[in-house]
Amino acid sequence: MTIDGLPIAGTSWIDVTNPADGTLLAQAPDCSSEQLEAAVSAARSAFPSWAATAYEERQKVLHEMADAIEAHVEPLRQVLAREAGKTLDDARGEILGLAYWLRGISKLRLPETVNEDSAARRSVTRHVPLGVVGAIVPWNYPLGQIGFKLAPALLAGNTVVLKPSPFTPLATLRLGELLRSVVPPGAVNVVSGGDSLGPWMTAHPGIDKISFTGSTATGRKVMAGAAGSLKRVTLELGGNDPAIVLADIDVPTVAEKLFWGAFGHNGQVCLAAKRVYIHSDVYEPLKRALADYAATVRTGNGVTEDVRLGPLQNRPQYERILDLIRDCEDHDYSFLTGGLPEDGTGYFVRPTIIDNPPEHARIVQEEQFGPVLPLLKFDDIEDAITRANAGDYGLGASVWSADTDAALAVARRLEAGTVWINEIQHLTPQVTFGGLKDSGIGSENGIEGLLAFTAPQTITVTPGRS
Ligand code: NAD
Repeated sequence: MTIDGLPIAGTSWIDVTNPADGTLLAQAPDCSSEQLEAAVSAARSAFPSWAATAYEERQKVLHEMADAIEAHVEPLRQVLAREAGKTLDDARGEILGLAYWLRGISKLRLPETVNEDSAARRSVTRHVPLGVVGAIVPWNYPLGQIGFKLAPALLAGNTVVLKPSPFTPLATLRLGELLRSVVPPGAVNVVSGGDSLGPWMTAHPGIDKISFTGSTATGRKVMAGAAGSLKRVTLELGGNDPAIVLADIDVPTVAEKLFWGAFGHNGQVCLAAKRVYIHSDVYEPLKRALADYAATVRTGNGVTEDVRLGPLQNRPQYERILDLIRDCEDHDYSFLTGGLPEDGTGYFVRPTIIDNPPEHARIVQEEQFGPVLPLLKFDDIEDAITRANAGDYGLGASVWSADTDAALAVARRLEAGTVWINEIQHLTPQVTFGGLKDSGIGSENGIEGLLAFTAPQTITVTPGRS
């Protein structure tokens, strides 16, 4: 681990499994409560001087962090691909994406608002850092998610204790090593551990804010854990994103984009299309095109050539997906592709497309977070919008049509934090993203994402008598 700029070994260890064959890949430190104390205390000690550092200097450090990452893409991607079940290309993209995010976020400026500037008084509101941020990330984009948290937290003047998922700690621990020579000691601490570590962080009185990405169920626990010490929280949670396909699309183009929008990284993406509502006029050709495209995509060990989709990342997720597929089988829903895997090593599931199951099916109602996609037919757009908005999630959505005005009219009525038209999952450091309803509280990226790591402070000056 990295605590106060130093390498710290574990006193006990957690196993990290290679999802491509189920073997032990490595062991990672299981941070003890004393070691977490040391990390929080290092972050607290580093905070005053980091917060006092000029904004331009902090921007420069973000660039230096990006440089260090770019100089180590190859070793990082070998670790990331193996622990996360990614292809080497996807792992490279994620690492370069982290560097891109650090540079992109560094360009954001914290606003200052002049509230009053009169003979009687000058009142200005600025934004000050919160202190120590606890950043907790999931296993699907172990490094990518860090850019959404570490970059704005540091830029705003906070120090950080970062915790990866116990399923994917290795590339993040390596990142901690790389950053030791770039950031001041204590500004970025990286700890790994088992199921106790997250709750210790959320309850820790020395941490001022938790920036959390993960499931809605865990998000509730994080909020409850943070309540005791009145921590601020940002929660980026689960989703069950609808895609709505109107009748006027170009089928081959949309089929390919939708396939990757649903099955990229095996659907283990918070913003993946998780249910696709298709106008009945194009239902048959689009379903065929999706099934044909799926047949061209090779699933296998991500570090092997030509493989486009690796294994599911971990055994609980694999079991959950098998359970959902079995449920589809038990209810005699029609399978266009995929299905239960044959026995073998590794957590592999081929892209599985379910043909128009009923709306109440579990595969429609639940967040699958895996490579099983229901296609659903509609005739009336009002019906599609109602079905898309039903449920507790409100993360992302997409609308597909050659008629931008018609698509916009639908998009405006969808209950989602981000709605894309004719694309999906496009995020940038400058654009705010967050969930409605049970998909989250607060947002990341863009100016709102930066402000989330600050508190407003108003200073009022009334001319004094000399
Ligand atoms: P998870 O909630 O199980 O775990 C996320 C992180 O929280 C891990 O680091 C875990 O160790 C930690 N954690 C577990 N219990 C905790 C507790 N009680 N207190 C504090 N921390 C705790 O989620 P996951 O399975 O790793 O990720 C999949 C979920 O994440 C999906 O629901 C997905 O939609 C969601 N997700 C959301 C976004 C988003 O931006 N909205 C992005 C990616 C993933």
